[in-house]
Amino acid sequence: MTKKNPDTHQSKKLKQRHKFFLNPYQDCAFTKCPKCETKTKIRKFPLVIKIEPKQLFLLNKQCKYCPICDLIIAKKQEIEPLITFEFSKSNPKIVDNQYLVMGTLDRKDWKDGNNKSLSSAEIIERIYLFKDVWNFKVIPAGWYDNDEK
Ligand SMILES: [Zn+2]
Repeated sequence: MTKKNPDTHQSKKLKQRHKFFLNPYQDCAFTKCPKCETKTKIRKFPLVIKIEPKQLFLLNKQCKYCPICDLIIAKKQEIEPLITFEFSKSNPKIVDNQYLVMGTLDRKDWKDGNNKSLSSAEIIERIYLFKDVWNFKVIPAGWYDNDEK
């Protein structure tokens, strides 16, 4: 056994799982995975969303999920109204800010976070970041007329 890297901060090692795609297309539900064409399932995931500058938002969201690719697909148009709804009273100035879906929590941690028994720092410690964030372009045939006049 070699004694390597005594200085690395093992405790700060980030946990990762799942891949993520934020679906910007209102008319595309991705009933099939855009990568492998497997039929997607519907599953709830406890998502952690960071809204700039430093607001965390926990959202147990029904998403599309491809078990082959381990890919979560969430609809942008469904997430944004929920952010607006959540913060329009408590913190209205952040409602239109940039946001980032960072990762997921274990269900137990999501519950604690939602009860406010976890601080933001504790949530960040427990978060599973996405392994990867994918993007897919959809070019629907016959739609060009509307956009390219
Ligand atoms: Zn797939």
